[in-house]
Parts: sequence; C-alpha cells; structure tokens
Amino acid sequence: MEDLQVRNMSKSASGTVENPGKNVRAKSGLNKSILDQGWFEFRRQLEYKLVWKGGKLILVPPQYTSQKCSCCGCIDRNNRKTQAEFSCQRCGLEMNADHNAAINILAAGHAVKACGEIGVGQLREAGTFRALGA
Ligand SMILES: [Zn+2]
Repeated sequence: MEDLQVRNMSKSASGTVENPGKNVRAKSGLNKSILDQGWFEFRRQLEYKLVWKGGKLILVPPQYTSQKCSCCGCIDRNNRKTQAEFSCQRCGLEMNADHNAAINILAAGHAVKACGEIGVGQLREAGTFRALGA
C-alpha cells in the first residue's frame, strides 16, 4: 500500500487573511472526499486484520507511482494524460492509470519483501498496527 500522509493531504487550502489560498473550493471538495472515504481508517483496519491473521502490511513511498511506467520504468509527468489515462512517452504502453499505479505499488512491495530497502526514498515495513496510529 502507498504510505500516503492523509493528514497532510487533507489540510485546508484556505490560507490566511494576508495570504489567501488558491483553488480553496476545489481543495475543500477533495479534502471532504478523502475524509469521507476514510483512507486512514481503512489502512488502520487492514493492518490490524493482517497482523491478526499473521500477515504484514508493506508500505511503499507514493512518489511517482502514478507517473512511472509499469512496463519500462520511465518516469515522466507526461505519462499521465488524464486522471484515468496512462500513456508511456518512452515505450508507448497505454492502460488505465490506476491499474498502472497498482502494478507499480505491488512491484515496490515485492521489492521490500525480497530486498529490504531499494530505489527512491525509504521503504518501510509496518511492524505492528500500533505503529500506524503514532
Ligand atoms: Zn514505458
């Protein structure tokens, strides 16, 4: 699973009186959607159940999972044509953007399981479900 910082992602964009935020209405809608869907609680419950059944939740850095081609590894912001469309600028792979990102997240998780730390950023394996509540 991507190690998303839900608290930071759902921060208000309203700013201050001196420095008002931009796109406040759109950001407010996104925040409501993130909070309504309960991303943090879903992750907490998933890890709790996995630990209970003897499994582990592996968290990977979310950087570039949606821009990286799952076929050739090319990372380019132009790979992501729209929210739903992925089109690799190097190898021409075209597929649903969420499906491509899911393949990248799975591959990153397998890399953690096989090798420990690799690649960009720090991969970490969640120890107990309490660690996520901290
Ligand atoms: Zn590619």
